[in-house]
Amino acid sequence: MIDSYGRSITYLRLSVTELCNLRCRYCMPADGVCKKRHEEMLTQEETLAAIRAAASLGVRKLRITGGEPLVKPNIVSLCREAAATPGIEELCLTTNGTLLPRLAAPLREAGVDRLNISLDTLDAEKYRYITRCGELEQAVAGIEAALDAGFEKIKLNTVLIGGFNDGEIPALAALTRRWPVDLRFIELMPMVDSGDFGPEAFLPCTAVTERLPELVPEEPDGGVAKLYRLPGAQGRVGLISPVSAHFCAACNRLRLTADGKLKPCLHSADEISLKGLDQAGMTEKMREAILAKPKWHGELSYYERSHAARNMNQIGG
Ligand code: SAM
Repeated sequence: MIDSYGRSITYLRLSVTELCNLRCRYCMPADGVCKKRHEEMLTQEETLAAIRAAASLGVRKLRITGGEPLVKPNIVSLCREAAATPGIEELCLTTNGTLLPRLAAPLREAGVDRLNISLDTLDAEKYRYITRCGELEQAVAGIEAALDAGFEKIKLNTVLIGGFNDGEIPALAALTRRWPVDLRFIELMPMVDSGDFGPEAFLPCTAVTERLPELVPEEPDGGVAKLYRLPGAQGRVGLISPVSAHFCAACNRLRLTADGKLKPCLHSADEISLKGLDQAGMTEKMREAILAKPKWHGELSYYERSHAARNMNQIGG
């Protein structure tokens, strides 16, 4: 379906839970989340109806996210059903990777095509700090399990944080030599819970090209990342700049939260509820959401923060 600004909406980001086994400082509060009542969340049936509704409107790519999608007990069966939905051509999942040693093979077998795995540092102490509780070795074991399970085109997502991991830009980029993966540096977005970070934390992605002049530009692949490659590397380095160089003109996404709120734009407060509707009702609301998609997300900076009234774990990154 085409929105009011001529953008073809083909991509749904679906959050299946707000819960997470980590507590990343820029993503969610230290005390976790105020667990909503079960009745407030989409049931599996409603989630699948929403996927069918989206597919009926032309969505072809589905990303399952959260919270941490792998803490959801029925994640494998949900992925299997999602992958089998007519119209869905590509099923992707974003995860912190720590539960992949157990789940990578079942997810692959269930039909997940691609994984994005978050990794902000290669230092075990710093990993524990930024996630407030995580173990780096579990995330690394998760990446290796995903490779062993046969996932191709794995992307590692690194949130670029001044004063935290900017000194690790070369080491993180060098992971594209160690493994056949792409690594993308993503600018820190000023969400509700990135409030602990001062202005110096918000680095533009140009910090990466300045630090790594040896990066060779690559042809764009239709995604939102500007692509480069380190000489001899197996994978690419991508730069994603939602803050310094927004890509709203090319935004083809719709988001659905785990409690059933459609978000036409990540950074807008606008939400349209799907909870309790049947597939036909959901399709109508999705049409409404696509037509309500704003032209751009407005100015974003340390001083001009996102209007989304939710943390990232409650939206789905
Ligand atoms: N738990 C999964 C994970 O860790 O990838 C999926 C959910 S998480 C919300 C999805 C992505 O959002 C992660 O790559 C995370 O780093 C990113 N994210 C969360 N808050 C962010 C922020 N304030 N700015 C930029 N990226 C953010």
